[in-house]
Amino acid sequence: MNFLQKEVLQPEITVMGNCQACGELVQVNTPKCPYCDTLLNQQSLLDSAKMNFVVTQAISSANTIRTFRPAAYLLILLSLGRFVLEHSFRNLLFVVVWLFPLFTVLRWFMKHGGLNSSDAEYLEAKKQMKSALILWLAATLINWITFAVAIGSGK
Ligand SMILES: [Zn+2]
Repeated sequence: MNFLQKEVLQPEITVMGNCQACGELVQVNTPKCPYCDTLLNQQSLLDSAKMNFVVTQAISSANTIRTFRPAAYLLILLSLGRFVLEHSFRNLLFVVVWLFPLFTVLRWFMKHGGLNSSDAEYLEAKKQMKSALILWLAATLINWITFAVAIGSGK
């Protein structure tokens, strides 16, 4: 096997699962837990490794979504300022882009929201996504409501 194939395309990664007895992270295929000497069930070690992987993915995705937060405040600010803004600036509020974060948060819940994990970081990420959902729903509602008011008052 050449270098490219071995080192770049198939790098050796350490897959870690949790010991069934003590819960410590152990490399998959380790026969015996180095922490508590329990003989490890490889299937359940592999299952917990998979779980760790999806939980890590969910957390990292939530961390990215959290960075959208300032944009929600900007949307609220622009919506409230709709009545004083120039017409061309007001049009900025209708670009579909503003719906993207809301849909992204909803997709996070569809993809990652139902994990049966008690991982503290995952639970925190889920909490963060709930508040992101509320924030983006509120920002979108304020945008629509101020739009309706602006139309109603003929502006
Ligand atoms: Zn152990």
